[in-house]
Amino acid sequence: MPHRRDLFKTTLALAGLAGATGAHAATAKPVVVSTWDFGVAANQAAWDVIKGGGYALDAVEAGARIPEVDVKNHSVGRAGYPDRDGHVSLDASIMDEKWRCGAVAALEHIEHPISVARLVMEKTPHVLLVGAGALQFAIEQGFKPEELLTPESEAAWKDWLKTAKYEPVANSEVSTYGHAPGSIVPGDKHNHDTLGILALDQQGRLSGACTTSGMAWKLRGRVGDSPIVGAGLYVDGEVGAATSTGVGEEVIRNAGSFLVVELMRQGRSPQQACEEAVMRIVLRRPEAAKTLQVGFLALNTKGDVGAFAIQTGFVYAQCDGTQTDRVVASKSVFS
Ligand code: ASP
Repeated sequence: MPHRRDLFKTTLALAGLAGATGAHAATAKPVVVSTWDFGVAANQAAWDVIKGGGYALDAVEAGARIPEVDVKNHSVGRAGYPDRDGHVSLDASIMDEKWRCGAVAALEHIEHPISVARLVMEKTPHVLLVGAGALQFAIEQGFKPEELLTPESEAAWKDWLKTAKYEPVANSEVSTYGHAPGSIVPGDKHNHDTLGILALDQQGRLSGACTTSGMAWKLRGRVGDSPIVGAGLYVDGEVGAATSTGVGEEVIRNAGSFLVVELMRQGRSPQQACEEAVMRIVLRRPEAAKTLQVGFLALNTKGDVGAFAIQTGFVYAQCDGTQTDRVVASKSVFS
């Protein structure tokens, strides 16, 4: 009787999977895409890695670190809007073409959650560390704890406290990113956005990362889709990668990014896959979908890109070396 391990090897060989690397060098056209207009700067940092022949994983980490330190950006990293009790709490995840992944959730006081997520992937047997444990791990790894609440974000939070109404609103308006610090726009719809970044390198390796401070004024302890592998981010080196932005609860309910990648596996283009995943959310909760925003961004192993959102206003940045600062408006269900 054959040994179980031999059977496993035979099955792999028959399926043509033994030795699979997840790389598609022959057909790859390197590209980096990121959610939102602040993705332009992230893409440029990532492209610097890609154009030098570097690894997609290094590229997406480098890209994600850009908005994490940008104090004009109130939905990622330092200067992110806090939870309802005034704590800046950050979510991030990272994944490579070999199904390796790492994530942190509800991490406070560390300005680069994406780099902590990468170390969770590389230095621990785990995938996700949360809260106090994630902070302890970050400090053990040499990260410096800091206050991430800036005076501008604190002022916006205090303003919100006057009514303290928690109403996640669809960010269906032109981004207010880039307003000078201190000029918080009243009724700013961009009180939640995620930097999701996907890259395909010259060797055909795919990676993805996402980082966010989540919903502004959220309940303490609330975790969104971004650090949940399969929800806010998923990468399959044989198929493609996807990331999401918008109301994380809706994305988690539908295992959104995993769904987009699985649809690509079944033959959909990145565009078709994003559209089908968005429509699933809309059709399951049609009333709620009228006012909430979810957007998906996807990239396959050939370098084809797709995006789709529930509401108008979702944009993404694309960089492929020919144009480094291209911002593209996603199509949407409602206009
Ligand atoms: N998806 C993020 C969250 O729910 C927020 C966003 O991207 O708008 O935490």
